[in-house]
Amino acid sequence: MIIKSATFVVSNTKVSALPAPDRPEYAFIGRSNVGKSSLINMLVSQPGLAKTSQRPGKTQLINHFLINESWYIVDLPGYGYARVSKTSREKWEKFIRNYLTKRENLQCVFVLIDSRLEPQQIDLEFCCWLGECGIPFALVYTKADKQSGPKTDQNVAKFNKALKQWFEELPSFFITSSEKKQGKEMVLGFIDEVNQD
Ligand code: GDP
Repeated sequence: MIIKSATFVVSNTKVSALPAPDRPEYAFIGRSNVGKSSLINMLVSQPGLAKTSQRPGKTQLINHFLINESWYIVDLPGYGYARVSKTSREKWEKFIRNYLTKRENLQCVFVLIDSRLEPQQIDLEFCCWLGECGIPFALVYTKADKQSGPKTDQNVAKFNKALKQWFEELPSFFITSSEKKQGKEMVLGFIDEVNQD
C-alpha cells in the first residue's frame, strides 16, 4: 500500500467524543516505550506525526490519524507504566476497555511487543483479554534491530508458545524495526487486505 496522505485528526480523552465511526480503523497499543510512536511514524513515512519520546507514559490520549482519506490509525495510550498510581491505571483500563469493546469500525488491534524481551505477563494478559472479548488483534514485534534475527525468532517462538495455552489459532505477527524500516510493507499489506474484505 502506498501512503499518499497521513494527517492528525483529533486527540480524545472521551470515547463519546471520537470521530464518527464511518471508516475502518486500526489501533496500536503496547507497553509504554515499546516503540509505538516510532512504528506509526515509520508506517506513514512521517517522522513527526506521532510524538516519540524517551519519557514513558506520556501519551494518555486516543489519537486519530486519517490515512489516504479513507481509514484511521489510532494511537492508544501505553500500558504498564510502573510509576502511575492505581487510580490512574484503573482510569486507563476503563477508558481503553470502553474504546476497544465499543468501537464498531475497529478492524484490528496491533499489540506491540518488545522483541528483545521474554514473554511479559502484562502483554499475555492483554492478548487473552482481547481474545475473550472477541476483538481481532495481531502482534507487532518492535526494535528487531537491537538484537540478532535468531534471538528475535526465539522470543517470538516463546511468546507464541505462551499464547498457545489459551488460543487454538495464533494471531498474525510482524517483526519490525522503525530504525531500519523493517516490516513496514508487511503491516501495511495486512491492513490493505483487511480493508479489501
Ligand atoms: P512509545 O512510548 O511506545 O511511543 O515509544 P517511542 O516510539 O517513543 O520509542 C521509545 C524509544 O525507543 C525511543 O528512544 C525510540 O527512539 C526507541 N525506538 C523505537 N523504535 C525503535 C526501533 O525500531 N529500533 C531502535 N533501535 N530503537 C527504537
